[in-house]
Amino acid sequence: MRPPNPCSSWLPAARALLAGAALAALAACSRPPAEPIPVLMYHHVAPDPGRDVWTVSTDEFRRQIAALKAAGYETVLPGELRAGGARPAKPIVITFDDGLLSTLGEAEPILREAGFRAINYLITGFVADVPANRMKYGTYDCLSWEEVRAMQSRGTFVFGIHSHSHAQQPARLAQEAAECRRTFQDKTGLDALDFCYPYGRAPESLVAAVSNAGYRTAMVCEDRRFVPGPGADWLRIPRVSVYGGHHEFSATPPVRAGPGAVGAEVRNAGVPLPVRGVLRDAATRRAWTFQPPGRLGPAPQAWRWTDLPADLDPASLQVEIWEQNGLFRYFP
Ligand SMILES: [Zn+2]
Repeated sequence: MRPPNPCSSWLPAARALLAGAALAALAACSRPPAEPIPVLMYHHVAPDPGRDVWTVSTDEFRRQIAALKAAGYETVLPGELRAGGARPAKPIVITFDDGLLSTLGEAEPILREAGFRAINYLITGFVADVPANRMKYGTYDCLSWEEVRAMQSRGTFVFGIHSHSHAQQPARLAQEAAECRRTFQDKTGLDALDFCYPYGRAPESLVAAVSNAGYRTAMVCEDRRFVPGPGADWLRIPRVSVYGGHHEFSATPPVRAGPGAVGAEVRNAGVPLPVRGVLRDAATRRAWTFQPPGRLGPAPQAWRWTDLPADLDPASLQVEIWEQNGLFRYFP
């Protein structure tokens, strides 16, 4: 029996048909990285996010995905991580909560064009059979089972479970965990092995119920990266929130603020977001990070970089504002 190619899940099937496929596969394979893996949490994507922190604008989402791709990230799915084996050199997991219709209309085309895949966590009690009976979760339109099946067959999205009711009570969510899996199987003919806790809360009792129901991975919300491998808690995978809402960043030109120190005043006229500041020397591309406390909103903040080389010329420095983990840039 031919052993399975450990890299096959990372390579487009067509490449296997090409001459030299074995060498290419070897080159594409890498050992599982020691570096922690970012797992991103999105919800809604829409042309105008307004003041909604859970809505990333379509243009912004396109920029973010392009930036991740340009940085060399390749997407992996939770089930692939759990299965082990070869991983891309720079893996990233992209998740969407609540099974919203915008994952089809807005996110899917952008992800597909980038060759990215993502997991979409459904609230099974909010998924109608057909689009004509579409349900809403809050103000957001949800996918129908008909759309879920079509998306699943196109391959950009796979689906996981985000409870039946999105209730606050862990006991109720625990009761629903197994039933959701059966519903998903009835509606799609596929097995759901990935769970996502509503509100990111995962008390022991709920984790145990999710495990007993047969799920292999489960997502919480904690702003840190996930380290797979021995000792990893696969039923409490931390995720980084990607916050949305309209934002409008600005920064004054950096000025000297003492020996080896440079300061600037920064502001976001839009929805307050957690960010990371980067001071970059245009001449040498060297960069220094500043982690502001709290979120950056309409109140101006004085950022100060210290312990800088004495020879820096403030005129060649620029302030950049990045996503809180430095994954993509918001400004300029
Ligand atoms: Zn949710």
